[in-house]
Amino acid sequence: MGKVKIKNLKKSFGELEVLKDINLEVCEREVICIIGPSGSGKSTLLRCINALEVATSGTVEVDGNDITGAADKDINKYRQNIGMVFQQFNLFPHMTVLENISFAPVTLKLKSKQEANEKALKLLRRVDLEEKANVYPEQLSGGQQQRVAIARALAMDPDVMLFDEPTSALDPEMVGEVLNVMKKLAKEGMTMIVVTHEMGFAREVADRVIFIDEGFIVEEGPPQELFGAPKNERTINFLNMVL
Ligand code: ADP
Ligand code: MG
Repeated sequence: MGKVKIKNLKKSFGELEVLKDINLEVCEREVICIIGPSGSGKSTLLRCINALEVATSGTVEVDGNDITGAADKDINKYRQNIGMVFQQFNLFPHMTVLENISFAPVTLKLKSKQEANEKALKLLRRVDLEEKANVYPEQLSGGQQQRVAIARALAMDPDVMLFDEPTSALDPEMVGEVLNVMKKLAKEGMTMIVVTHEMGFAREVADRVIFIDEGFIVEEGPPQELFGAPKNERTINFLNMVL
């Protein structure tokens, strides 16, 4: 069943048409990797799914709830089911790791403080950072901060996780630890949409790879096909540059 359904999505910023007619259905437990050149609209697409941007036209549904045109209070509810991880980890600098993770569920009154802290510790175990619960983000490496950011997103028990180039800001030696956490999540059945330049990850983990260029989905397919036998000339050119 379609977990995320995007139909005829268009998004413009003023005169600039960034997303031109995006149609995409993501199934439950599916892992989608989105690749494409810089400026092609990948982040804008993720931000439309998370209602951080309002679509110019078309619809975006998650679990059957259309968010285009929804009232603000419905959007907040909708967003709670979608975890997002950014290139810049965006942790709250004045909060400890544990507080970062339990903040949203406690503030939104979804969990008591004790429940949220217990859950946060479990999540920290999952990303292998249990011993860092009481330190502040600045005391962590980039890779550790990004793993905390993933744990923080998971604290809301999301149905879908969106990742926008989660390893692009990391020193090379830290990329693997973050990708490993994402691999584990994928294995556990999380529905994931990942914008990435990590072609190895896309090859290994994605069920489907989507190539976006100039606001269109130019080509999509299972990684063996898209990487092994790309059909569109633009896909071929892009892969020649990055592989
Ligand atoms: P990608 O993530 O593929 O690099 P983006 O989705 O970030 O691409 O951006 C696509 C295009 O939209 C770029 O030309 C960018 O400058 C433009 N853009 C993105 N966000 C905004 C905004 N808030 N206002 C104006 N232009 C934007
Ligand atoms: Mg981007």
